[in-house]
Amino acid sequence: HLAREQASTVQQYDASNDTNAANRLELLGDLRRAIGADDQLSLHYQPKIDLAGGRVTGVEALIRWQHPRLGRVAPDQFIPMAESTSLIRPLTSHVLDIAVRQAKDWSDRGMPIPVAVNLSTRCLLDPHFPAQVFDLLHRVGLPVALLKFEITESMVMTDPEKALAVLRELRSGGISLSIDDFGTGHSSMTYLQRLPVDELKIDKSFVQAMGDSHGDAVLVRTAITLGHNLGLSVVAEGVEDLAAVAALRELGCDVAQGYHFARPMPAEDFDQWLSDYSGRSYSARHSANAVP
Ligand code: C2E
Ligand code: MG
Ligand code: MG
Ligand code: MG
Repeated sequence: HLAREQASTVQQYDASNDTNAANRLELLGDLRRAIGADDQLSLHYQPKIDLAGGRVTGVEALIRWQHPRLGRVAPDQFIPMAESTSLIRPLTSHVLDIAVRQAKDWSDRGMPIPVAVNLSTRCLLDPHFPAQVFDLLHRVGLPVALLKFEITESMVMTDPEKALAVLRELRSGGISLSIDDFGTGHSSMTYLQRLPVDELKIDKSFVQAMGDSHGDAVLVRTAITLGHNLGLSVVAEGVEDLAAVAALRELGCDVAQGYHFARPMPAEDFDQWLSDYSGRSYSARHSANAVP
């Protein structure tokens, strides 16, 4: 899967070089058709690892778009664009549908792995969204505990009261929630302690820099303390090497996600990865000079 992820980035479209409004509009049209087409959009899944025991605690679902002409278009290139239009709604429904069915398939095959889906502002502010989610879970037959959502503080701050109402309804129905990209964008202490969330994910920019930069290391440590004091599980994103794993463990971080453990991969590759990984971590636990 590593080779596949790299190979598919050979041809990659960069919308930030594309200031032409007509091209952006065309890309939106392509995205709308891609949602209907079913062969261009897919989800990759990236595992999250419990730093104390090495267990896989869940996966994050990340969208991939293979454009017929432009090649791979990164989510950072089209999600913000879709967010600025109503297209984000059908796109999110499409992602949710795939993710929930995948979680159901894993669960049916004896792998009850929680799947986290990234939410957009529009869904977070839509009072009908929770009912649609619970309806989907019911139709597919997936236990609520196997679906999670990731939101950012900036999304909440767009309209905090509306967002809080949706978050409370999702959470009281049993869906756990994470704050994504913590440390970037706007943070409000007032709302942070009012957010009905279970998990805090430290943004990868801080985690990647903490080995070289004192300031970033301080931020990571502070975020872990803050999260724990609020009763949250703390996840570090962008964990790329063993040094980061060791440092995060030392700081008491709960969970890690990053290329050191696995790149996001297609569902077809996940079974194999999981059995390879379980084998490795089993022998690591049972050997004295094991790699952490
Ligand atoms: P995110 O939710 O913060 O997702 C984590 C991003 O970090 C992913 O980028 C992942 O591939 C990348 N990543 C994970 N581990 C490492 C690492 O060790 N090093 C580095 N350099 N990167 C790592 P990706 O897949 O390109 O997604 C970018 C963003 O696009 C996501 O950030 C999320 O905000 C958004 N996104 C992705 N899929 C969806 C989706 O289905 N719906 C919505 N609304 N947003 C999505
Ligand atoms: Mg995320
Ligand atoms: Mg993130
Ligand atoms: Mg992000």
